[in-house]
Amino acid sequence: LAKRSGRNSFRFYSKDLTVGVEERMQLESELRRAIEREELELHYQPKVLLDSGVMIGSEALLRWPHPEMGMIPPVRFIPVAEDTGLIVELGRWVLREACKTAKELNADCHHLHKIAVNLSGKQFQCSRLVNEIAAILGETGCRAEWIEIEITESLLLDRKGETLQTLLKLRQMGFSIAIDDFGTGYSALNYLARFPIDTLKIDRSFINSSDKRNEELVKAILSIAQCLGQDVVAEGVETAEQAAFLAANGCGSAQGFFYSKALPKMELIALWVRASATGFVSDRYAASR
Ligand code: C2E
Ligand code: MG
Ligand code: MG
Ligand code: MG
Repeated sequence: LAKRSGRNSFRFYSKDLTVGVEERMQLESELRRAIEREELELHYQPKVLLDSGVMIGSEALLRWPHPEMGMIPPVRFIPVAEDTGLIVELGRWVLREACKTAKELNADCHHLHKIAVNLSGKQFQCSRLVNEIAAILGETGCRAEWIEIEITESLLLDRKGETLQTLLKLRQMGFSIAIDDFGTGYSALNYLARFPIDTLKIDRSFINSSDKRNEELVKAILSIAQCLGQDVVAEGVETAEQAAFLAANGCGSAQGFFYSKALPKMELIALWVRASATGFVSDRYAASR
């Protein structure tokens, strides 16, 4: 250790940091190997209309079933992928997979199934992003209208000019744009009007809270979105009460364990086929009505 400090906080901090670095280096090499061996999977969490329970789309979420370590959650490996730049390659793979799935789901169906794809800020630093996305559309036969691009508030705060141009191009191509985890960033509210944003996704910390004041914040977010003509998706809906509150206050759609967790592609397709016939996302939902 650099210093023999009497302050416990310093020692603990150094120790934790060392462990963190080693673990990250191990994760990095494991992640490279997993990408090479195509061990990562893309799962899809259904998104439903709150008033009717009709499924309207899904969100693509990365899953890493490690052969020895078990399922490694995105909160552990996405930061590593971002720090190492691996997220650029991984993000391309995610978008290509999501586009193939969107093509399958929308091929001979009367209902639109829109797939939301998370894009990292690191992907926006790459000047070829728009060209690469266009190439993926061409290669997969997917239409931009079948995809929603999810970004975080922080992306809008740095490199504002370039980001705005990129988002405008993507919007022009037909993609819709959503702000993920809305309400948790260092928001400057004026970006909501300045950037081309179609959808606000209310962070699940507002939805899954015992603090009643968060209900007031949810109502405030819904009213902002309504003023700006934006759609709202509530994240992390886990109970019938939460769904009822959101529906009563005019929130359009939701995702959450109450409806379904993220599913492997084949299960999503089976559910979509069934839901297209019955209109409902799950037996659980139908039972709750
Ligand atoms: P996110 O985009 O906000 O995704 C929503 C997260 O909430 C997912 O976690 C989802 O499984 C979880 N979730 C959904 N419903 C519920 C619920 O009712 N209760 C609770 N407690 N959680 C719920 P997940 O899959 O672990 O992903 C975490 C984050 O990792 C994502 O947050 C996203 O920021 C990032 N991520 C995942 N896949 C990708 C990807 O392909 N690219 C990028 N750049 N980031 C990704
Ligand atoms: Mg997301
Ligand atoms: Mg989110
Ligand atoms: Mg989140």
